[in-house]
Amino acid sequence: MALRSSVDARVLIIGCGISGVGAAQKLIRQGFRNVRIIEATSRSGGRVKTGRLDGKIIEIGANWIHGPSQENPVFRLASQYQLLDEECMSEENQSVDIGGLPPLLSTWLSSSGKKLEAEVMAPAVEVFLSLLKKCQEFYTSSDAPMSSMGEFLEREALRISNEEWKEDETRKLRQALFSTLMKLECGVNGTHTMDDVDLGTFGMYKSLPGLDCTFPGGYDGLITHMMNELPKDIVLFNKPVKCIHWNNIHSQSSSKEGTCPVTVECINGEIFEADHVIVTIPLGYMKKHHDTLLNPPLPQHKMHSIQRLGFGTNNKIFLEFEQPFWDEECEVIFLVWEDEYDLQNHVSDMKTAWIRKMSGFTVLKPTERYGHILCGWIAGHESEYMETLPEEEVLHTVTRLLRRFTGNPTIAPKKLVRSQWFHDPYTCGSYSYVAKGCSGQDIDNLAEPLPLTGSEAEPLQVLFAGEATHKSFFSTVHGALLTGWREANRLISHYNPSPRKVTANL
Ligand SMILES: Cc1cc2nc3c(=O)[nH]c(=O)nc-3n(C[C@H](O)[C@H](O)[C@H](O)COP(=O)(O)OP(=O)(O)OC[C@H]3O[C@@H](n4cnc5c(N)ncnc54)[C@H](O)[C@@H]3O)c2cc1C
Repeated sequence: MALRSSVDARVLIIGCGISGVGAAQKLIRQGFRNVRIIEATSRSGGRVKTGRLDGKIIEIGANWIHGPSQENPVFRLASQYQLLDEECMSEENQSVDIGGLPPLLSTWLSSSGKKLEAEVMAPAVEVFLSLLKKCQEFYTSSDAPMSSMGEFLEREALRISNEEWKEDETRKLRQALFSTLMKLECGVNGTHTMDDVDLGTFGMYKSLPGLDCTFPGGYDGLITHMMNELPKDIVLFNKPVKCIHWNNIHSQSSSKEGTCPVTVECINGEIFEADHVIVTIPLGYMKKHHDTLLNPPLPQHKMHSIQRLGFGTNNKIFLEFEQPFWDEECEVIFLVWEDEYDLQNHVSDMKTAWIRKMSGFTVLKPTERYGHILCGWIAGHESEYMETLPEEEVLHTVTRLLRRFTGNPTIAPKKLVRSQWFHDPYTCGSYSYVAKGCSGQDIDNLAEPLPLTGSEAEPLQVLFAGEATHKSFFSTVHGALLTGWREANRLISHYNPSPRKVTANL
């Protein structure tokens, strides 16, 4: 079958998150006229989701532009749309290069209600950061001594602690802080335990220069601006896709416009025909539905990589207070359980102890914009369990926790809003990570189109984008955007087989 012209080619994009919107934007700019986005929910943005707490902006999903500098396409777009404040736009901010680990002014509270001294805690933070740096280096040196991050961090942290910190009380407190930092790292990686994160490939993730910044008017402003550049009726909302039939499997449905290599079947029974489909569905959803999402099914190697790669949960619990109990300059509050000096990063009894998985809180700044709001971070199965509890129970448990750690029995948050990403049926978790035993090849497998080498005789049918398909920026908004552009470029090259390479950096 001869290729249609790019102008007429029917392209369906599944998912209206940033990767889907980015792909549509690029295709339309290149003259593709027949592009539609099919979205399961009633909104665009996916994991970019801005909410409100008492009228104040809170980010239920993505929060920061990680590495806001010229190489970051989200930063470039946000600057173009004038969505960032002066500080974030400044050359100085863009040039800060701290390897993705922003230095925050911290307060450490202990489970016996004491504020812990910076002189006691700071050395443990330093050791932990240096160990993370070491983990990153194993990617290039290829000599990771063990398979998981958890094993390595635990062994090395305890070794250093025993060798360098003799005084028992301080040593135990510092080790307890290691447990807190492990829990925090579970959230950063979107995993239940660091034992599940691959050590040798941890350094495959690349951080960009620039001190992380936020969107003063909400992250969803970025999506709104991008959507404004698309034709008004491009998105079909509330249409969860059930199955993508490819390889002419539904050829009886060929329309008057000719044969139709791909048909998309929605849960409500509607069928859409296409020459090409770009799938941007989150890895969490794919893990759950990969055996029925495509017909014929996905090739084995793709299926295996979907099963092997990691996709976990990191949730936020926002709390609003009448008055702050923290110091004015404080940016982050860490919770240190004094009995956790054996480097735990998960709890033994979910029902009674899930709250122990919460590593701490970030303080929403500036105060003039947010008032007094804390954002609590909790990852893993404990986080997934928290999602199932009534809101009042979560509020009650967090209030008890705060009273214990501050030693102040009157503390009472006035409002709570939490995210529930694991039970979101179209996300099924928060973001992807390279699980123990996986490699960059698994991400390549995930990103591989069907058929693999599109040609005039065998045109591309199903293409794959979304954050989990980016080898060095997985789990981020900029990674997701780049994959949308990458797959749009793949189609553009398909119709204009020139020296242009399929690249995301355009
Ligand atoms: C709590 C949290 C905090 C985060 N913080 C940051 C951060 O600070 N900085 C950062 O860079 N990144 C952050 N991220 C990650 C970032 O949000 C994601 O990597 C990015 O938004 C993913 O975009 P995407 O287009 O790949 O997927 P999504 O945004 O998930 O879009 C996929 C779309 O597909 C739709 N869909 C799913 N199934 C179907 C179906 N069957 N039929 C039709 N449509 C379907 C979904 O509804 C969704 O709209 C965070 C994520 C979370 C959850």
